[in-house]
Amino acid sequence: MDFDDTPDEAAFRARVRGLLDAHAAELLHVGPGEESIDARSHEAELRRTQRVLAEAGLVGITWAREHGGQGGTLVQQAIVAQELARARVPGLINHIGIGMCGPTVIAHGSDDQKQCYLARLLRADDVWCQLFSEPASGSDLAALRTTAVRDGDDWVVNGQKVWTTLAHVADYGILLTRTDPDRPKHAGLTMFVVDMHAPGVTVRPLRQLGGQADFNEVFFDDVRIPDSERLGEPGEGWRVALTTLMNERVAIGGAGTDIGQPVENLVAHARERLPALDHDRQVLARQAVGRAVVAALAARYTGYRRFTVLSQGGLPGPEASAGKLTGTIAAKLVADAGVRLLGDDAVLAATADGDDRWQRTQGWLPGISIAGGTDQVLRNILGERVLGLPPEPRLDKAAPFSGGGSARLGGRADGSGS
Ligand SMILES: Cc1cc2nc3c(=O)[nH]c(=O)nc-3n(C[C@H](O)[C@H](O)[C@H](O)COP(=O)(O)OP(=O)(O)OC[C@H]3O[C@@H](n4cnc5c(N)ncnc54)[C@H](O)[C@@H]3O)c2cc1C
Repeated sequence: MDFDDTPDEAAFRARVRGLLDAHAAELLHVGPGEESIDARSHEAELRRTQRVLAEAGLVGITWAREHGGQGGTLVQQAIVAQELARARVPGLINHIGIGMCGPTVIAHGSDDQKQCYLARLLRADDVWCQLFSEPASGSDLAALRTTAVRDGDDWVVNGQKVWTTLAHVADYGILLTRTDPDRPKHAGLTMFVVDMHAPGVTVRPLRQLGGQADFNEVFFDDVRIPDSERLGEPGEGWRVALTTLMNERVAIGGAGTDIGQPVENLVAHARERLPALDHDRQVLARQAVGRAVVAALAARYTGYRRFTVLSQGGLPGPEASAGKLTGTIAAKLVADAGVRLLGDDAVLAATADGDDRWQRTQGWLPGISIAGGTDQVLRNILGERVLGLPPEPRLDKAAPFSGGGSARLGGRADGSGS
C-alpha cells in the first residue's frame, strides 16, 4: 500500500485547497469542536455552501460531465471530502441526493428526468431524500408495504415511510413501493421520483435523544405520481433499489472517510480534563482514550485499504462494509471516552460552561450503527462474503408477498446493500 498522493493526486489536492481558500468567505464552517451542523436551522446557508462548491467544480466529482459532474475519479472525490473536512466545511446538505438518488436517476431515469433534476440537485436548488425504510421493513427492505396503484396516467400511493433523513427539507425523494403484492416480495416493487411538496405527503420530524431531528416519518395519503416519474419498469423496483443501495455502500463506507478530527478533539479534551479527575477515574479514562485511539487507527488503515482499491481503479466490495463497521466502532469509543473524561459532569446534559458536544455526539452515534445497514447485518455480509460461511436461510424468496412471503429475511440483510 502506498499512502502518499501520486503527483497527479497531489496537484489535484493543491487545486482543491486553492479553491476552498479562494471561496472561504462564502462557505459555512463548523465551529471548533463541532462535527456536524443541523440541516433545519442552517438550511439556507447549507444550500448556499453547496451551490458555491458546485460552481467551483467541487461537487459531483465522479458524475459524468454530460450530467453536470466533473468526470473525475473516486480517489479525487475522496480527496475533495478530505479537504472539505480539513477546511471545516460541513457535509453537503444534498449528500443523499448526490451519493444515492442522483446515481439512481442517472442509471434508470428517462432523458427528461435527467434534464429536469440532475443539475439542480448538484447545486442544492433541490434537496433529495431516500424513502425506503418502513416501520416493518428496514434490514428486510423487500418486505415493504407502501402501495402504488395505477390510475390512468398516474399512480396513487398510500403508506408510510420512516427514518427518512432530510425529508423535512427535501424537495424530491426516490420512493420504493409495492405495485404487485401477488408476486414474490422482490418482484412486485416499483420505484418513483416523488415531489415532496405534492398534496397528500406529510412529513413529521422525529426528535432524537440529543434533541435534534435529522430524520422523519413520511405519510402518503392518495398521493398522485405521474407515470412519467417512474424509475425503471413496473415490477423492476428491486433492481433499481440495488443501484441506490450499492451507491449507499460506497457513499457511507467506500471512500476516504477518516475520524482524524474527532480523535484530535478527544486528545485535546483529555489534556484539559485528565488532571481534574481523581486517580481511579484518571486510570479508567486514560484506558478509554487509548482504546479509542487504537480503534481509530484500525479504522484509518481499513480506510487506506479501501483507498488503495479505489486508486487502482477497483470498486470497494466487502471493504466498504468493513469500513463502515470499523469506523462506527471507533467513533463510538471516541465519544464514550470523551464523556468519561467529563467526570461527574457526564451525567449532565452540558457542562457548566454550556459545552454539550460529547454528550450530544454520544447520543446520536448509536444511529450510525443502524443507518445504511446495521452492525449485525454488516457482520453477516463479512461472514458470508469474506469468510465464506454458510448463508442465512432465505425461505420466502419465491413465495407471493400476499401469501405470507413478507416477514422473513432478505433486503439489506442479504448483503445487497451495506
Ligand atoms: C440515522 C439513520 C438514518 C437513516 N436514514 C434513512 C433514510 O434516509 N432512508 C431510509 O429509507 N432509511 C433510513 N434509515 C433506516 C435504516 O436503513 C434502517 O433503520 C436499517 O436498515 C435497519 O432497519 P430497521 O430499523 O427496520 O431494523 P430491523 O431490520 O428491524 O433490525 C432490528 C434488529 O435486528 C437485527 N437484524 C435484522 N436482520 C438481521 C439479520 N438478518 N441478521 C442479524 N441481525 C438482524 C438488526 O441488526 C437490528 O439490531 C436510517 C436509520 C438511521 C438510524
